[in-house]
Amino acid sequence: MTVSLSALHARAIVLDIEGTTTPVDFVYQVLFPFARAHVAKYLERREHSVACRDAVALLREEQAVDLSGGDAPPEPIVDFVHWLMDRDRKSRGLKALQGLIWQDGYRSGELRGQVYPDVPPALARWQARGLATYIYSSGSVLAQQLIFGSTAAGDLTQYLRGYFDTGVGPKTSTDSYCRIAESIGVPQPEILFVSDVFAELDAARAADLRTALCVRADGNVPASAHPVVRSFDDIID
Ligand SMILES: [Mg+2]
Repeated sequence: MTVSLSALHARAIVLDIEGTTTPVDFVYQVLFPFARAHVAKYLERREHSVACRDAVALLREEQAVDLSGGDAPPEPIVDFVHWLMDRDRKSRGLKALQGLIWQDGYRSGELRGQVYPDVPPALARWQARGLATYIYSSGSVLAQQLIFGSTAAGDLTQYLRGYFDTGVGPKTSTDSYCRIAESIGVPQPEILFVSDVFAELDAARAADLRTALCVRADGNVPASAHPVVRSFDDIID
């Protein structure tokens, strides 16, 4: 199946990351384990940096809330961070700290952002066509910029007009997509949102955006109320 940008009168494209531009495995097999393995070293090395101290302050606040709520979080900050990771807690402090650890990893070349091979040429094609491309992901804006800034195909941030994280709201909330449309200044029906998650696409459609379900895995395409693309090559002019 293909999705035609001109048929949709699309002026902007908003992309999900995990499972859409980037293998889900990159996040779970590379990024999360890297952050876990480097927490202790990072805190030791960067304890005097403002960004690190801000992240730790957020973590200490959260720890205090857990304690007063009757939970038993470990006291040392490294152990507390691991404890949060074990619980897959959506924590601002944890996200902030992970972003900083990854930033060091990308800078040193230990980490490199991964995207599917059809992504870089599609981003270049859309930019040449005058379309504005944005990212909307539950990872922090910093984490998003790091992924696209360091891929094997080079720095892809040159093709991206802006980034949204859950600061605009949850990805399954219709209001989030209204806020994104308002922020980028393009009417909702002229924005195409691409994701691998039905609930996100349903929310975007309820906000009157156009949608495409990205199915990266081999095998059968699930029954979908949204047009299906297997790669960005299927999103045609
Ligand atoms: Mg996804």
